[in-house]
Amino acid sequence: MKIELSEFFSNEGKTENLNVVSDLDSFESKLGSFLITEKAPFELHLENQEGKTLLINGETDVTVNTVCDRCLTDVPTSIHITIDESLDLNTMGVTEDEEEGPAWLDESELDLDKLVYDEILVNWPAKVLCREDCKGICSKCGKNLNLGTRSCDRSVPDPRMAAIQDIFNQFKEV
Ligand SMILES: [Zn+2]
Ligand SMILES: [Zn+2]
Repeated sequence: MKIELSEFFSNEGKTENLNVVSDLDSFESKLGSFLITEKAPFELHLENQEGKTLLINGETDVTVNTVCDRCLTDVPTSIHITIDESLDLNTMGVTEDEEEGPAWLDESELDLDKLVYDEILVNWPAKVLCREDCKGICSKCGKNLNLGTRSCDRSVPDPRMAAIQDIFNQFKEV
């Protein structure tokens, strides 16, 4: 979703609280594609300060279906998002040396989805486990070891293993 900001650029002192919801339904990154299953209401505070600065702040939570690092099952993970931006209305940048302006600003529109995307990226969990003692998957047959303890016959290679190995290699490259 895009939010028109031109009124906030030109009206000194203009302040508004908006209730918005991002249109972002999935998070795509080098790690893969992850569904966003829940989005909390997002109250965004916009404030033109003395005609010089536009403050944009707010907080929300999103739930993303991440996957367990060891066994690859879905793990719903809640990510807290804090937006705290300050746009210099003279340079239209967040810092003095920024010439093109922030990535979430498109002409006079705030790209909320881009802002939320960047925050998810920054807050992405370094480690995801379905449970602390996740046993992972059998290196031989690819079976989820959390589901049973009976071991496979390790002398017989399983063709499914190749596919599982590919998935692991993808994750290692990142
Ligand atoms: Zn797991
Ligand atoms: Zn096995």
